[in-house]
Amino acid sequence: MVGASLAGLQDHLKLAREYAQEGLYDTSIIFFDGAIAQINKHLNTVDDPMTRSKWMNVKKAISEETEVVKQLDAEKRSFKEVPVGRRPNSPPISTKSSFVFQPLDEYPTSSGAPMDDPDVWRPPSRDTSRRPARAGQVGARKSPQDGTWARGSTRAGTTGRGGKAGGSSKSNAGVRASTAGKKGTGTGTGTGTGKAGKAESVNGDTEDGKPKKIQYEGPDGDLAAMLERDVLETSPGVRWDDVAGLSEAKRLLEEAVVLPLWMPEYFQGIRRPWKGVLMFGPPGTGKTLLAKAVATECGTTFFNVSSATLASKWRGESERMVRCLFDLARAYAPSTIFIDEIDSLCNARGASGEHESSRRVKSELLVQVDGVSNSSTNEDGTRKIVMVLAATNFPWDIDEALRRRLEKRIYIPLPNFESRKELIRINLKSIEDQVAADVDIDEVARRTEGYSGDDLTNVCRDASLNGMRRKIAGKTRDEIKNMSKDEISKDPVAMCDFLEALTKVQPSVSAADIERHEKWFSEFGSA
Ligand code: ADP
Repeated sequence: MVGASLAGLQDHLKLAREYAQEGLYDTSIIFFDGAIAQINKHLNTVDDPMTRSKWMNVKKAISEETEVVKQLDAEKRSFKEVPVGRRPNSPPISTKSSFVFQPLDEYPTSSGAPMDDPDVWRPPSRDTSRRPARAGQVGARKSPQDGTWARGSTRAGTTGRGGKAGGSSKSNAGVRASTAGKKGTGTGTGTGTGKAGKAESVNGDTEDGKPKKIQYEGPDGDLAAMLERDVLETSPGVRWDDVAGLSEAKRLLEEAVVLPLWMPEYFQGIRRPWKGVLMFGPPGTGKTLLAKAVATECGTTFFNVSSATLASKWRGESERMVRCLFDLARAYAPSTIFIDEIDSLCNARGASGEHESSRRVKSELLVQVDGVSNSSTNEDGTRKIVMVLAATNFPWDIDEALRRRLEKRIYIPLPNFESRKELIRINLKSIEDQVAADVDIDEVARRTEGYSGDDLTNVCRDASLNGMRRKIAGKTRDEIKNMSKDEISKDPVAMCDFLEALTKVQPSVSAADIERHEKWFSEFGSA
């Protein structure tokens, strides 16, 4: 099994190559650098010399590829000596996009970024008449007359987002379609706040089940529509009970994230909510799952962003995207912004090879995280609460400035014996009636010391497929196709299947990694 530190590597490389082909060399380099950093991190966890040398070769090949793109980038820059202010109004590189870029000097940035960077172009034109509607934006709910936004239901539909890296939920599509045409003119913004214990109505639909309406007043309509489409998540349908163990983490999250959203009037002054909460720990221990449970349990609007989403393909757009994301979250308040793999967005500032644009994204993120604690207020005087929840497998890579802002830092460790038992039970819930009596959950839990939740899920999955493997062994394709569902599921999952699965699935987290996390926890973590 490929280590979890390499999750999304393939996607990042694919994007790097695509951007290079489109001539977006700078963005391509960011993804290439990210891929190399991922391999470096993975190498730290690999002991086997054969595997190491294979990965070293991969790294070498990718580094060479990156060098070529860097040379192309340098060459392209040498052509860009046009004085600022005399730029053409046409898109600078790609003609695929409907965005129309202008010189940046017309566009202020809150991070104080220089305005005369010849490589940065101003954001998409807000004049919608000059650009065709983008595919997939049919249901975009901005009213051309009043610029207001109809708020989609955050409770309807329960599908989660797709993959992690770059994974963005399309699950809103249905909601969007169903709310199209109900464009908002109202000004209600999370009027359900302040009612302790009313998770279902904190920021959900109105009593009659119709979606509430929100008003997005920011300047970036297009970007807001894109973020609504890609990162605004309907209730992911994960409850606390679906997360095995981690009771301390659940308690801390409840106190740090859920309660301030339920009773904002209590969390004032010295009790003000934490600016941000960081979940850290080895990969596959349930950080993303916990974030989804937070979203479901507090019933608030959930923005699920991975750093790949924020590493935008347009230079200068990433920082706008961060700003727009927070604007949108305030408009939908109370809400939670979950930033997965935050280390890849915010690794130590000034690190060699760091790109100017990624520095700006970081600065913007710092400004915005600072801003969430003094957010604007609702009409009734209660604060519009936006919680920032982040996750990382590499907390030591996080910029010190951001670390300070992620005030609550919660360690999500490997599951202990009890949690492993619970996790096995959760995993087998859907096939409860097909588990043989000889399956000794205690014994499986004992044998899986050092396994992450993800590893253990893989063990259960592998074991549960063994019956089917036995059934289809030696059969032809047609015979398999003609087998009935009953016939396949007749063979229950037995203890021998688990023992076999255990020989195939090895723990993916090294002892050195755990040690590093524990050290970081004792230095910076919240108990
Ligand atoms: P992380 O974000 O920490 O890398 P995830 O939350 O994405 O890990 O977990 C990956 C998968 O592992 C989950 O989809 C789930 O199947 C399983 N898993 C990990 N930890 C737990 C847990 N504590 N309870 C239930 N399932 C878990």
